[in-house]
Amino acid sequence: MATLDTEEQAVVDTVREFVDKEVKPRVNELEHADTYPEAFIEQMKQMGIYGLAIPEPWGEAPVSMPCYALVTAELARGWMSLAGAMGGHTVVAKLLVEFGTRAQQDRYLPRMATGELRATMALTEPGGGSDLQAMTTVARGSDDGGYVVNGAKTWISNARRSGLIALLCKTDPSAEPKHRGVSILLVEHGPGLEVSKDLSKLGYKGVETCELTFTDMAVPADALLGGQEGRGFAQMMKGLETGRIQVAARALGVATAAFEDALRYAQEREAFGKPIWQHQSVGNHLADMATKTTAARQLILHAAEKYDAGARADMEAGMAKLFASEIAMEVALDAVRVHGGYGYSTEYDVERYFRDAPLMIVGEGTNEIQRNVIASQLVKRGGLDRW
Ligand SMILES: Cc1cc2nc3c(=O)[nH]c(=O)nc-3n(C[C@H](O)[C@H](O)[C@H](O)COP(=O)(O)OP(=O)(O)OC[C@H]3O[C@@H](n4cnc5c(N)ncnc54)[C@H](O)[C@@H]3O)c2cc1C
Repeated sequence: MATLDTEEQAVVDTVREFVDKEVKPRVNELEHADTYPEAFIEQMKQMGIYGLAIPEPWGEAPVSMPCYALVTAELARGWMSLAGAMGGHTVVAKLLVEFGTRAQQDRYLPRMATGELRATMALTEPGGGSDLQAMTTVARGSDDGGYVVNGAKTWISNARRSGLIALLCKTDPSAEPKHRGVSILLVEHGPGLEVSKDLSKLGYKGVETCELTFTDMAVPADALLGGQEGRGFAQMMKGLETGRIQVAARALGVATAAFEDALRYAQEREAFGKPIWQHQSVGNHLADMATKTTAARQLILHAAEKYDAGARADMEAGMAKLFASEIAMEVALDAVRVHGGYGYSTEYDVERYFRDAPLMIVGEGTNEIQRNVIASQLVKRGGLDRW
């Protein structure tokens, strides 16, 4: 397992303390009122959470991917929505650091590092999110060398509060193969872009998820990420390695919270004259929950280390995301079981874990898509790495 250095461990410990002291006591009220966690976001800014992926000269030293994953898991242990409020932001920061022109980096990264400017990414369309190459949002070249964007995106998280949107679109709709016609535009709110609808959701409360409509939106030429058309698909696939480790870590946070609540409750609650954990079926639930959660954590750290080593990590990120999200759902359901009737009550947190867990199964590429990625990489790489 990855061991963090003292400085990075201190970052994780600070977030853990924030979650236990500030978030846990207030989360239920904010969740059920579906209130945007303005005060928590401010505290996250102060803690430097929005700058975790941004190096000098724009930010301070970025943390390692294992540290970033554990910070994400800690936030999600308190409230998955908080981890969701910084997930897309980090992917966009990584895209800018890795692929942006110097002018794009200078324009956005300093304000992103402090959280003054927040970012999201817009991939999914009403017609489909899995088959990204079939997207219909088009940026046509205009006379002034810029673009005119038309189309619609949906399920875009943090869309209202993000001042920067990494928009995946087609700059050449007739390109073959199709991915060669895909680019990323760095779009800011303005004429031609409407946040057309807020979507109502099962969980992931507090944070907005919206539909975006682009109608003849004029975008300048220098908004093209990296300054070259046709690179967007490959750029976004690299960005999604971070995104999938982030979503896996969110799932780990939810599973950890569900397990911790169940462990505590099973020692407090008595039935047939003894604490319920002593009934073998309940003890077995706890053992399975802890085993699955620990395995998920190891897979995430493995993917994070592979990412930091500079190697292609889409298979590892896919495995981590697939496993962690599936077990988060199972562990959340087991936490409901252990809590009996109270597990179904909105007074307890476990019903929230049960509503939040499915998002990680669907988001950042569904688990069916992760299996496709894993299978094709297994064939390409000739199997698993040797140990
Ligand atoms: C709360 C929430 C927040 C989100 N935030 C964002 C965001 O910020 N930005 C963003 O761009 N998107 C976001 N998404 C969208 C999310 O990434 C998509 O919902 C997801 O990628 C699936 O796309 P889809 O919903 O169009 O499903 P579809 O692509 O229509 O898929 C439907 C079903 O078919 C399966 N399927 C499709 N193709 C295949 C295949 N080749 N093999 C096997 N099975 C397949 C899928 O796995 C799924 O089970 C968010 C979604 C939610 C629910």
